Amino acid sequence: MMRICIVGGGLCGLSAAYMLADIGQVDLFERRPVLGGCLASYRIGGYWIERYYHHCFAGDTRLMGLLDRLHLADRLEWLRGTTGYCVGGRIYPLTTPMEVLRYPYLSVMDKARLAWLTLRSKHLDVEALDRITAKDYILERLGPTVYASFFEPLLRSKFGERRDEVSAAWLISRIAIRSNRGAGGERLGYLNGGFQMLISRLEEELGRSGCSVRTGTPVETIRRRNGIWLVNGEPYDAVISTIPPQEVAQIAGMEIASIPYQGAACMTLALDHDVTDGIYWINMKDDAPYGAVISHTNFAPLAWYGEHIVYLASYFSNRLSGGAARAILADFCRRFSVPEDAIRWHRLAVDRYAGPIYTTGLRDRLPGYERHGMYLAGMFSPPNYPERSMEGSIAAAHDVAELVRARFSDA
Ligand SMILES: Cc1cc2nc3c(=O)[nH]c(=O)nc-3n(C[C@H](O)[C@H](O)[C@H](O)COP(=O)(O)OP(=O)(O)OC[C@H]3O[C@@H](n4cnc5c(N)ncnc54)[C@H](O)[C@@H]3O)c2cc1C
Repeated sequence: MMRICIVGGGLCGLSAAYMLADIGQVDLFERRPVLGGCLASYRIGGYWIERYYHHCFAGDTRLMGLLDRLHLADRLEWLRGTTGYCVGGRIYPLTTPMEVLRYPYLSVMDKARLAWLTLRSKHLDVEALDRITAKDYILERLGPTVYASFFEPLLRSKFGERRDEVSAAWLISRIAIRSNRGAGGERLGYLNGGFQMLISRLEEELGRSGCSVRTGTPVETIRRRNGIWLVNGEPYDAVISTIPPQEVAQIAGMEIASIPYQGAACMTLALDHDVTDGIYWINMKDDAPYGAVISHTNFAPLAWYGEHIVYLASYFSNRLSGGAARAILADFCRRFSVPEDAIRWHRLAVDRYAGPIYTTGLRDRLPGYERHGMYLAGMFSPPNYPERSMEGSIAAAHDVAELVRARFSDA
């Protein structure tokens, strides 16, 4: 029987295992004690909440297909996503056209330019945009005020000190995907019960089909001997790695080009009241140790949780500075007038590899699905360009599973 090893128990690894369980013995190795990777969740009292804020989009067809196969489609709810900016200590809602018109930090002309770019965004050539930085693109076409008042805070909150290197491909594709909104805001998808439902269902299905899922088991060595892969010393016919290319290159002693990654540090906390005026997603234009305040319960119904859940989202490039958790909490309490004892619980999630930094030219540097006979799929794969997503990781799993299937059926 063919033996397949999957490195990484995030959404990509789990999906690939699920798609290949019928053609051989699949063993999945996950370094952490729990599955889910960037989509893992906390169990708080009687509910699950993602370690990092998640929602999906209407165009996420692979995700919908997977939910359907796992009998979870009826749990997907389309909810209203609202947004705003925090400037000078004040929250400005920016969801409806009227709210945008009232926003005082852009002139009417700037707003017209912004509307023009939003309309055009779906028709722009992403390949060409990969060669120019987002900063230059916006400065050239929309001018310095729109850049400073609108896009720079977004880029700063997402990419920190490397924001000036990010390509226009990333920015424009974000605008295009977020422009699918009616007058009342975006329709964003969320699973009733949390995306942990998806992770748990995949785990159950893998158990049912005889896959061996090994949590708390890092892959430490991968070697090739006489046409067989040895993973932590065990023999396999095929290896699918879903971890960052530079990590697998090191473990396997192979030459695979690195991808620039950023880390995420995200504080999740619960309160007994709302702090963002009913708005889901607040971008911080003010300088703060987090770039966005995301009130999950202004998106998913409060009744599902019985308390207000807030994410304080930040990214880092190299190392997270010491004392980050304290600094984030202290700033949040001061800025939003929240007494520390009003925070019912809080957790900090930190991941060094939270997503690629979409620097100019990255498109041509993405690794293909097969390198030195090993399969590579994950956040760095072409379907996850120019932004990583659940959809992209499922699509990459699908592509790589098809390649393995084709090779096995030829054998
Ligand atoms: C802050 C944040 C917000 C996000 N929001 C959204 C959103 O709203 N919508 C959306 O669609 N997507 C969102 N995403 C993206 C989405 O979570 C990811 O694209 C997806 O979960 C990636 O899955 P993956 O399996 O490719 O990678 P990962 O989740 O990174 O999985 C890789 C796994 O490999 C494991 N691993 C690493 N090294 C080893 C080793 N040596 N041995 C064994 N295991 C190892 C890791 O522990 C991890 O579990 C968000 C991501 C982040 C970080």
